Amino acid sequence: EETHRQPFPSCCIASPVERSVQLQELLARPLALAIEQEQLELAYQPIIELESGRVIAAEVLCRWDDPVLGRQSPADFIDVAEATAQISSLGRWVMERALEALHRWDVAGLQLAKICVNVSPLQVQDPTWSSDLLMALERHQLTPGRIVLELTEGSILEMSNHVANQLRDLRRQGFELAMDDFGTGYSGLQRLTELPFSEVKIDRSLISAIDYDQLQQAMLSAVIRLSDATGIMVVVEGVERSRQRQMLLTLGCRHGQGYQLSAPLSDLELEALLQSQITPAA
Ligand code: C2E
Ligand code: MG
Ligand code: MG
Ligand code: MG
Repeated sequence: EETHRQPFPSCCIASPVERSVQLQELLARPLALAIEQEQLELAYQPIIELESGRVIAAEVLCRWDDPVLGRQSPADFIDVAEATAQISSLGRWVMERALEALHRWDVAGLQLAKICVNVSPLQVQDPTWSSDLLMALERHQLTPGRIVLELTEGSILEMSNHVANQLRDLRRQGFELAMDDFGTGYSGLQRLTELPFSEVKIDRSLISAIDYDQLQQAMLSAVIRLSDATGIMVVVEGVERSRQRQMLLTLGCRHGQGYQLSAPLSDLELEALLQSQITPAA
């Protein structure tokens, strides 16, 4: 199900820069139409407590299946949205739908503690973004502590002071902040201290061989010790094999996300999963 159509054959692509220009030319207008006509969809990938298997949160992932072009990868169309200034309207739509869903699940008595939303600094740059977010939160009767804002390690490198201050402000108001794709940039641990992160998501490349690679095991152990000392929660991304899951538990890693735990789900599928693990009130 989770396969994306390649927009053009790889023989046409000379360089990453050229590819991104071609993607823009091909996708910019159809994407604008898809946003306007609300043809995007959301998938929800559970974040799991490894010990118990319980869903502790869900990450919202944007999906676009264009009637003509086919299903597109978020890595591609989010890039295009950022390059063509459509990320604000796309991000606004994603946030609105995510908060609406969380409210609906609250009303239905489903117990989902948190929802995690990917955010581009370009959205935060928009002067009305954070006041709109606060209004949407109120409209859906949610508290800031229910929302995790995920920012990729790479995007933090390019962040302006204005954006960083907006995020600090939201953190003070109770929103959670997660550093996404940790370990993919050149930034190092120092980045973790620049914003008041409550969570770090370890990129799947750092745990791809965690079940047998001693260097990966040593690195993850160090990150877990660091996070225990600082109170920052660690979530490991891309858990694909049960042996990885076993080793993660052995290393003291408590939370994970990945195909072995659960693929990204439709809202109905997530609802069924949450329904199956409701604990009766004492
Ligand atoms: P991300 O935030 O790091 O999200 C996790 C990605 O890993 C998702 O890819 C998910 O489908 C994939 N994944 C989950 N489990 C596994 C696994 O076990 N193995 C492997 N190989 N992959 C796994 P997806 O949905 O293609 O999204 C790619 C990226 O696009 C996201 O990475 C995020 O950075 C961005 N993105 C997606 N939706 C949005 C959005 O609404 N707004 C923004 N700004 N970015 C978004
Ligand atoms: Mg993410
Ligand atoms: Mg990630
Ligand atoms: Mg990513």
